[in-house]
Amino acid sequence: MKPNVELVVLEAQEFNVIMNSDTSNVTLVSVTHPTINEHNSPESLMAYCARVSSPNQNNPEYAGLLSYCIKNGHWSVFEMVDMTLEIKTSRAIAAQILRHRSFSFQEFSQRYASVNTSDFVKTEARRQDKQNRQNSINDMPDDTRDWFNKAQDDINQLSTQLYQEALDRGVAKECARFLLPLSTPTRLYMKGSIRSWIHYIELRTDASTQKEHRDIAFAAKQIFCSQFPVAAQALAWNNG
Ligand SMILES: Cc1cc2nc3c(=O)[nH]c(=O)nc-3n(C[C@H](O)[C@H](O)[C@H](O)COP(=O)(O)OP(=O)(O)OC[C@H]3O[C@@H](n4cnc5c(N)ncnc54)[C@H](O)[C@@H]3O)c2cc1C
Repeated sequence: MKPNVELVVLEAQEFNVIMNSDTSNVTLVSVTHPTINEHNSPESLMAYCARVSSPNQNNPEYAGLLSYCIKNGHWSVFEMVDMTLEIKTSRAIAAQILRHRSFSFQEFSQRYASVNTSDFVKTEARRQDKQNRQNSINDMPDDTRDWFNKAQDDINQLSTQLYQEALDRGVAKECARFLLPLSTPTRLYMKGSIRSWIHYIELRTDASTQKEHRDIAFAAKQIFCSQFPVAAQALAWNNG
């Protein structure tokens, strides 16, 4: 006897939507798109899968259902749909992003391609919070801010010069990159389930996360809200 297995999502196509988010350096690449669900939205696919045991699987009303699933930690429903974002950032912040092990990544390779050192990522000098090691305060005096700004320019200039010289001398890219600082630019694709994005955004928009990473998480949240308005409403994310 043949096993009775039905293919539920025949071809979970991905569709491309390019959003212009130059300022945040976070761009929507793809969202899972249902092919058998007549409601034809990623959120309705999650509801359709959640109702696997219901005689009314195509019920077009699902705001209450998704809200119930969030409130009751029924997270598997949110694993039925994936989203991919392109993120441009520094190697310092990429190291934090890559720790989110439930995501799949593709990152620019410094072994196969040479780094564009004109895009070094800079930051402002913030003061170390003595009470909270996970916090920094943006109230440094102008002379320290100017000094830090120039220090970054000096390092970037020296790195660029020595990195280029190493390449010119025939040193392999995988070795030459040891001359590059954490401010070196990188680009990665980050793909994960909506469950993972919900928890990533909750965690990385929190004040305990470094500002440069928080900026990325807030941009991801903005994209999430545009793609998943019902879930965003249930999470009370629509207001910022
Ligand atoms: C402020 C801060 C400081 C840190 N400091 C250090 C450090 O000093 N050293 C170090 O090595 N690492 C540090 N980390 C990294 C941290 O330990 C994790 O490795 C990182 O946040 C990735 O999280 P994750 O393993 O949960 O991966 P994720 O991929 O984000 O999550 C793994 C799985 O857990 C699920 N999940 C996550 N949260 C929830 C939730 N609330 N409810 C239900 N399911 C959930 C996700 O959906 C996913 O399926 C720090 C992180 C932060 C935010």
